[in-house]
Amino acid sequence: MLRRALIAGNWKMHMTVEDARELAIRVAEAAKDATDRDVLIAPPFTAIGAVAAAVAESAVTVAAQNVCWEEKGAFTGEISPVMLKDQGATAAIIGHSERRQIFQENDALINQRVAGALRFGLAVVFCIGETLDERESGQTLSVLEEQIRGGLKGVAGAEMADVVIAYEPVWAIGTGKTASTEQAQEAHAFIRRLLQELYEKDVAEQARILYGGSVKPANIDELMAQPDIDGALVGGAALDAESFGRIINYK
Ligand code: PEP
Repeated sequence: MLRRALIAGNWKMHMTVEDARELAIRVAEAAKDATDRDVLIAPPFTAIGAVAAAVAESAVTVAAQNVCWEEKGAFTGEISPVMLKDQGATAAIIGHSERRQIFQENDALINQRVAGALRFGLAVVFCIGETLDERESGQTLSVLEEQIRGGLKGVAGAEMADVVIAYEPVWAIGTGKTASTEQAQEAHAFIRRLLQELYEKDVAEQARILYGGSVKPANIDELMAQPDIDGALVGGAALDAESFGRIINYK
């Protein structure tokens, strides 16, 4: 396959440092034979250092769930890319729908975060997705286009090697509703076509596009069988070592 699969777990605002360390060790154990795919876990900021140390001997890598664009300064409540790297993170999730919806992060702010992460050498898991209203009113593809154009503004083709896109329909996150494989594949194929328009063909072909939204052991195999689905961003099921282990080891 052209693209190496990536299974990513977003732990959201869960886990004490000790719980995070234990789960990370179990994830590394579950991932040890999955050598043909990448595994990434995103604990809360407070547990990044402990989790990075716990998985250091494995192929599992660690991401933050957000990141500021500056190295340091008067940005109360924010964490810089340099600080995240210092704790052992190699990537950051940016633009998650919870950031967009609960914390009003818009495309311009998200774009600043993306640019800052890349500038300081953090890979990016850039999240996009439509709400239920937007889907029902036929705006899905135009919303995705706007989010991509806005969020990736100024990102060069060469930098896209460090960007993974996560398509996460908002109505499928934490709701138990999964987009059908056809709905997901349609969105992923559209995103890839758009990347080809914005960049070169090989950038589009090499870009990894993850699906997120109630991914579970029961649906991962079918999702991963789609030609434009290159992995998954998993929330709820990533908090359980057994479920996440099964997702990592999808067939
Ligand atoms: C997420 O948090 O990115 C997510 C997709 O959550 P869940 O798997 O719980 O729907």
